[in-house]
Amino acid sequence: MKNKRSEELFEKAKQYFPGGVNSPVRAFRSVGGTPHFIAKGKGSHIWDADGNEFIDYCCSWGPLILGHADARVNNAIIKTAENGTSFGAPTELENHLAELILSNNKYIEKIRFVSSGTEAVMSAIRLARGFTGRNKILKFEGCYHGHSDSLLVKAGSGLVTFGNTSSAGVPEVFVNETIVVPLNNQKAVEEAFAKFGKDIACVIIEPIPANNGLLLQEKSFLEFLRDITKKNGTLLFFDEVISGFRVGFTGAAGYYKIQPDIITYGKIIGGGLPVGAYGASKEIMSKISPEGDVYQAGTLSGNPVAMASGIAQLNACLEKGFYENLESKCNALVNGIRNHVVKNKYPIRLFSIGSIFWISFSENEKIASADDIDANSMIPFRKFFHTLLEKGIYIGPSGYEVGFVSAAHTNEDITKTISAFCESLDVTFQD
Ligand SMILES: *Cc1c(COP(=O)(O)O)cnc(C)c1O
Repeated sequence: MKNKRSEELFEKAKQYFPGGVNSPVRAFRSVGGTPHFIAKGKGSHIWDADGNEFIDYCCSWGPLILGHADARVNNAIIKTAENGTSFGAPTELENHLAELILSNNKYIEKIRFVSSGTEAVMSAIRLARGFTGRNKILKFEGCYHGHSDSLLVKAGSGLVTFGNTSSAGVPEVFVNETIVVPLNNQKAVEEAFAKFGKDIACVIIEPIPANNGLLLQEKSFLEFLRDITKKNGTLLFFDEVISGFRVGFTGAAGYYKIQPDIITYGKIIGGGLPVGAYGASKEIMSKISPEGDVYQAGTLSGNPVAMASGIAQLNACLEKGFYENLESKCNALVNGIRNHVVKNKYPIRLFSIGSIFWISFSENEKIASADDIDANSMIPFRKFFHTLLEKGIYIGPSGYEVGFVSAAHTNEDITKTISAFCESLDVTFQD
């Protein structure tokens, strides 16, 4: 595969950006080689700067549930931009997107738009603290919630710990307010509440953890979190930046039928433009400025072009059969690969939910916490990834990343992808 132009562009980019990128995973560090600079996308396909064509399952890490350059989304963006891109004053489009979401999602009553998932989570953590008057938060090892200081904390040693920072530059005082426990472990959560119950403002979880492999949780564990938080006056915070509008219009809350206190959205909500949001009951949201005393603002919040893009995409998601169709394509993909895996006794397993899938390069039947993932299982991923790329399939460049099926993927794409996956597994395990 030709990669000359991408190599030139990457050399240039390294002069401009740390590591040559504006977000770390894009640098291909965990798979090696040069990142492909993408020139264009249409539907389920992308083309890089050297003209190589790929079927894309990264889909911008989730936002593009309709695929690339969807005509409905693009037309909305272009039409809106012609009337100006930002005013710093309210526009009707904000009402439209809010109405579209709130009238189809009974799990939140009011919403606030921001510009990224990180911003949504950071703001909603402040809201949880402001509402409860408590400082501590409890998070799970293996969940990603963006890069705000309070959340760049990983588990220390022990079941219930104040973590260690997972980034330089995060002050110790933040870490001291963040309790980290393993996923899928009731005992650890009970222990944390026994120690700190009345100090915990919120328990934050990706109800469908999809940023560190796909660590599917038992519904009973999520229900347990609902119960224990309620008993302790703690808010239950579902970070649905990935799962929101992905496993169904109402995300994981609707999928599991669990009412959290706060929900964050991102990714799909903006149709490929930078939008995040947080929502809750009217009572909790009334704490937000200018109604309440929890401050949060944004120059580009509710940006009209981004709102129009989100409206176009979410309207398409509401069409009858949309999610069933996505899920059946994803199931076809996963089952097609799984048949080959079982037949050849390859030491891997496939996990999926809705239109999210993940290949684990380990034979563990159940992978439900970060500790269940063996770091060595990532070694074969490197070869697998590059072989797959050669065969025209683009997935996220790390074995910890999940894949996404979009509405633009055709049955022909799926058939081709199954073959490419199977052949790449053969190369990975038989050569
Ligand atoms: C992607 C993601 C974030 C961060 O969103 P950004 O838009 O990248 O800032 C937060 N939480 C979850 C669950 C995510 O998947």
